[in-house]
Amino acid sequence: DTAARPDTTAQPGKGTIRVLQLYPREMNIYGDWGNALVLQQRLRWHGYTPELIEYNVGDEFPEDVDVIVGGGGQDSGQLLIQDDLQARGETLRQLATDGTPMLVICGLYQLFGKFFKTSAGPVIPGIGILDVETNGTDERLIGNVTLNSPEFGEILGYENHSGQTTLGPGVEPLGSVSRGAGNNSKDGHEGARYRNVVASYLHGSLLPKNPAIADFLIRTAVERKYGTFVPGTPDDGYARLAREHAARRPR
Ligand code: GLN
Repeated sequence: DTAARPDTTAQPGKGTIRVLQLYPREMNIYGDWGNALVLQQRLRWHGYTPELIEYNVGDEFPEDVDVIVGGGGQDSGQLLIQDDLQARGETLRQLATDGTPMLVICGLYQLFGKFFKTSAGPVIPGIGILDVETNGTDERLIGNVTLNSPEFGEILGYENHSGQTTLGPGVEPLGSVSRGAGNNSKDGHEGARYRNVVASYLHGSLLPKNPAIADFLIRTAVERKYGTFVPGTPDDGYARLAREHAARRPR
């Protein structure tokens, strides 16, 4: 269902931002849908009117999308969306090249890259927005993660993946891990950055504990649409509590 839901609780005046969630039916593991809810709530706090839109396999691709978020999924979910994702690849590549802010987590991070070779054998082609490749292994990387990002500071989350991702020269890592694995078990990097695309293995969901990333996506979307971003006064109390709790957890 691609129908936008108008938001009646937002303050009027500053403008509307359309947030598109990709494949919430198959790609929404560990509550990654929470990322869309955080964008919705922080947009309200900043005084903008959020519209949440869902895109699932077979839907018509919506017009005028300002922010795109996509979550993780099991290999079986990735296999179910692969044909539709390929059909939307050109549209999504164009939006990324134009500078649309995007957040893709785990399973969709992998498929925004060149391919994911699953540990069971099938190779799921990606849409090549990100210069990364992923190979499935028999070792799952599971647990709490801390990384340090030059842009966003300390990022906290949770990982659970069999795919191990290697970055090519066309992307930067999101940051370096100090707890947990991240992209793979070797190089100490987590996630990828390209234009306004943020890619990460981290669930949790990610944005409730990492409002700096949420505000990057919001600021970028608003500046592209309206020229300047006028911040409001978000309530970061729960984010701080969640961060303190997550930082104390063992691996
Ligand atoms: N199925 C992928 C993997 O295991 C992604 C998992 C996820 O999104 N958590 O690597």
